[in-house]
Amino acid sequence: MLSRDDVFSELGIGPAWRLRETSAAPAIARPSSAYTWDQLAEAVAHCTACKLSATRTQGVLGVGDRNADWLIIGEAPGADEDRIGEPFVGQAGKLLDAMLASIGLRRGDNVYIANVLKSRPPGNRNPEPDEVAACRPYLLAQIELIQPRLILALGRFAAQSLLDTDEAISRLRGRVHQFQNVPLVVTYHPAYLLRNLPDKARAWEDLCLARRTMQALATA
Ligand code: URA
Repeated sequence: MLSRDDVFSELGIGPAWRLRETSAAPAIARPSSAYTWDQLAEAVAHCTACKLSATRTQGVLGVGDRNADWLIIGEAPGADEDRIGEPFVGQAGKLLDAMLASIGLRRGDNVYIANVLKSRPPGNRNPEPDEVAACRPYLLAQIELIQPRLILALGRFAAQSLLDTDEAISRLRGRVHQFQNVPLVVTYHPAYLLRNLPDKARAWEDLCLARRTMQALATA
């Protein structure tokens, strides 16, 4: 288990601030979805809606607390995720866990992690528009089932496809968007941060914005 200072050091930032404790958000009523979780898992496991089904090892639905307030959305499974069947299990996943820990969150505990695409693009190439369109019903079903209070979009691809824009990530971060009436905050993808250390400080600002937004929702 990483200490708080380990987490800040992993993020490449000094242990500058302590976040104030807040009470948990009150429970909200959850409407029923077109899919049950079992149906959704089955559909993703057997999906052949796009060409990625021919090359993937398995569909990767998501992982975590199915009643989470926080929904984290990345791009697509990579090689490790395709093999293991869980999002963000490689080096980028380790950094994502540290990012979550920096704002007091833990994978699986009030947090659900998913990707825009449920199947790995071969060679980790960028997702193509027909693949995103084919996978979209699964992400929408997840959002309907989870009813998150806040979405954190990781990286340019997730942000642009969720917000249906081609604006640069540098312009999308730093403010609160909406995705189907759910507040959405954009930050850098952990895999990008592993290669661009100076932007870790900006990612920390984004995480603080997300945390503040969640606190405001909890006290509204
Ligand atoms: N990158 C992503 O966007 N998602 C994963 O699950 C792993 C790496």
